[in-house]
Amino acid sequence: MSDASLRLVWIYPDLLSTYGDQGNALVVERRARQRGLGVQRLDVRSDQPIPTSGDIYLIGGGEDRPQRLAAERLLRDGGLNRAVDNGAIVFSVCAGYQILGHEFVNDLGERSAGLGLLDVVSTRGEAERCVGDVLADMDENLRLPQLTGFENHQGVTHLGPSARPLARVRLGQGNGTGDGTEGAWNDTVFGTYMHGPVLARNPQIADLLIKLSLDVNALPPVDDRWYEALRQERIAAATQPV
Ligand code: GLN
Repeated sequence: MSDASLRLVWIYPDLLSTYGDQGNALVVERRARQRGLGVQRLDVRSDQPIPTSGDIYLIGGGEDRPQRLAAERLLRDGGLNRAVDNGAIVFSVCAGYQILGHEFVNDLGERSAGLGLLDVVSTRGEAERCVGDVLADMDENLRLPQLTGFENHQGVTHLGPSARPLARVRLGQGNGTGDGTEGAWNDTVFGTYMHGPVLARNPQIADLLIKLSLDVNALPPVDDRWYEALRQERIAAATQPV
């Protein structure tokens, strides 16, 4: 891999890619290419080994059974944990986010072990399923604009001391614990409940992942008028009284 190329790994598209989460891979790829970077994108199915030399790994959401299967296979494989040990960046959504934690409740009502890459534990929410638009203010350390997305999950995620909330919800449930937090992050590992796909609705997060992988503070600007129009439209729709 040359210095000017980015190795982007999309994990288990056959199990984890609900609500257009594939779009996250398209957006990272597109925004890297717009900055003149070469991109090598690897879509790794669940019967294939996870390469350990990737720069950015993306995992999407999924229904409860595929989520259990994905967690079992990722644990058995071990490649994603090795990649993170090597400094890789991971961005995960919903079921993928729950899998990165210590454990979650699976489709059989049992506790499944996660990868322990984020200090979070997910339980099954007793309240109504969290479904709908989300608006959230990003962790101020990330210095990014307000986040918009769409959530659909029964799981509720509790953060441990070494996980920081990715954002605080203004609208929607996020982690579902009632404390207003949404998602989690620690160093190079990120999790969110937002679909949408979240990187199409918030391309500044795709840029953050690219900057982290290149170890730079800024990227050349690109034309974001379309994204901004979409963002404003979603904010207006989400906050409109019904
Ligand atoms: N099955 C998980 C839950 O309901 C994740 C759902 C999803 O990825 N959209 O919490």
